[in-house]
Amino acid sequence: VFHLPTLRLGRVFGIPLELNLSWFVVFGVVAWTWSFDVYPSLFPGRPAWVDVTSGLVTTLLFFASIVAHEMSHSLVARRADIPVQRVTLFMFGGVAQLSQEPRSAGTEAVMSLAGPGMSLLLSAACYTAFRVVTGAGAPAADWAPLLMLAGVNLSVAVFNLAPGYPMDGGRVLHAFLWWASGDRRRATRAASWVGQGLGLALAAAGAWTLVAGSIEGLWFVLLGLFLRALAAAAYRSQEARLELATTPVVDLAHEPVLVIAGDLPLDEAPRFSGAAGAPGIAVVTDRSGTAVGLVDLRGAPDRPAAVVGAATVGDMARPLSREILIDGGESVESAARRFEASTAPALFVVKDRRVVAALSRRAVGAAFVDAAKQRRPGPLGWLAPRG
Ligand SMILES: [Zn+2]
Repeated sequence: VFHLPTLRLGRVFGIPLELNLSWFVVFGVVAWTWSFDVYPSLFPGRPAWVDVTSGLVTTLLFFASIVAHEMSHSLVARRADIPVQRVTLFMFGGVAQLSQEPRSAGTEAVMSLAGPGMSLLLSAACYTAFRVVTGAGAPAADWAPLLMLAGVNLSVAVFNLAPGYPMDGGRVLHAFLWWASGDRRRATRAASWVGQGLGLALAAAGAWTLVAGSIEGLWFVLLGLFLRALAAAAYRSQEARLELATTPVVDLAHEPVLVIAGDLPLDEAPRFSGAAGAPGIAVVTDRSGTAVGLVDLRGAPDRPAAVVGAATVGDMARPLSREILIDGGESVESAARRFEASTAPALFVVKDRRVVAALSRRAVGAAFVDAAKQRRPGPLGWLAPRG
């Protein structure tokens, strides 16, 4: 579903909020169910526009509640110095994408409980508001959306607390196992295994309902399979991260870098622009061979010869910014974190103060995919001795 386009709605507390196109399907189904099924059968005889308005209001507030749930996770994560990339609404609800895993079991537990905590709070608030307005004599039918929201927020909290990693309850289980064993790897393996089991059980229950003639079963089959895949992927991606956290970037960076001496006359630079490859960027060095800047060779040929005059490549160079330099001894995992925090297409690998290679965003992504492919979670690993 994440391959479908997403719309950027804006920022909430500085965190980008996005809408995946698959969300519209769910919005339609949910709004339809409330407008043409739930409300008409609860309050027969009302004009259709009243039911449709109530249905739309309920659906919009329901999704606003999901955003509040995800924002609670995000704000707790941000407090723990974990950058939040975005919150996305999609067909199975919402997801807060973090660029790092929590660094302690305690942080993970608090962060995971923040979402269901918000849902419970909203549920209680909606229920209280409903009792207050109807207690004051307002007609219950008009305020029924509040009661519905109390109900759905309660179900969101309860469903998310199921121990299916990486759902909230599964993360709480993971945090507990991590805290109890002191071994994060094995905790992830066990939580992933439980999560996959729960996903399959949900899919099986959905299939049973479907066979029994209820079309809603299909949604649970899809959700169950999705959760199973998510649980397996969470384990694999952690293993890949751990492996790449010990792989130095020099092992991965093979892309050659064009290095030009800073005192080269600028009018000779265009001769090298083909050698700089697709980025067209060369590293500029001083007389001692130390990298001092970057020059975009594609910009150079546009200048008339008269202006170029006695200028050198060094005059054109932009100073090297620390963000795009990475020490050869740093890990591929830390390179990945640099890419997540910037839009740079490549990093330059430095060894003994010299730029030795370029490392593209694509190469780092491919390394993660490769490392993750080699890992398959299984229950036996948890029982096997440490090694
Ligand atoms: Zn949650």
